[in-house]
Parts: sequence; C-alpha cells; structure tokens
Amino acid sequence: MADETSKPHTSRWRGDSIFGKIIRKEIPANIIFEDDQCLAFHDICPQAPTHFLVIPKKPIIQLSVTEDDDESLLGHLIIVGKKCASALGLKRGYRMVINEGADGGQTVFHIHLHVLGGRQMKWPPG
Ligand code: AMP
Repeated sequence: MADETSKPHTSRWRGDSIFGKIIRKEIPANIIFEDDQCLAFHDICPQAPTHFLVIPKKPIIQLSVTEDDDESLLGHLIIVGKKCASALGLKRGYRMVINEGADGGQTVFHIHLHVLGGRQMKWPPG
C-alpha cells in the first residue's frame, strides 16, 4: 500500500517538480541570479512586463509545510527578490507573491516567490 508520506501533498514528500529540473540544469531557464541557497529566473508565462521567480534549492513543496528552521531561507528569498528587482530596474515598485495550495492558485509544488513589476498592479488580486 502506498505510504501517505510519499505523496506530494504531504510535508515529507521529497520528490521532484519542474523546478527541480531547472535547479539541476536538466531543462533551461532564463536565470537572473543563483547562489548556494536559491535560484531566480524569469517566469515562462509572464503576467507583467517583468515577472520572475525566486526558489530555494531545498525542495520545500509549499509555504504551509515550512518549518521554523526555514525562517532565514524564506527571508533570503525575499532579499534576493528585492536585489533582482533593483537590478532589473523596477524603480517604481513591484509585487511579491507566494501562492499557497489549491485556493491560493499554486500550480508548481516547489515553493516559489513571484516578483512582478513594470506595470501598475491592481488590488484586490484576482
Ligand atoms: P504558481 O501558479 O504560483 O504555482 O506559479 C507557477 C509559475 O511557474 C507560473 O507562473 C508558471 O508560468 C511558471 N513556470 C512553470 N514552468 C516554468 C518554467 N519551465 N520556467 C519558468 N517558469 C515556469
């Protein structure tokens, strides 16, 4: 019988996603920044003139399963997103988003920070 902890909706799942393939350079991405903890790359289907993602190399599936130990890593994603936004010339501002789970609109189950800019953002979001 399948072990419940081997399924993608559980916190202990350590399987793969398309972002795992990007981290391992098995598929291409338009990379903006990389260090030992994270990777930033342009979104393949941009929702704004500038739209990139910042992902941890640690395979965390989604925000709701992060743990106290992930605090500095999650902060690092935001700081890297801020630096990339500045490097890409987003002087008028930008939006950072993490989609969590089904209602949050998450489609790729490897946690990622969206950074969108280059146009006026609306509120409330759709
Ligand atoms: P989410 O819906 O929050 O899970 O966001 C997933 C994002 O990943 C979407 O904005 C997709 O356009 C983006 N995406 C999916 N595959 C790729 C890829 N191969 N390279 C870059 N971005 C991707």
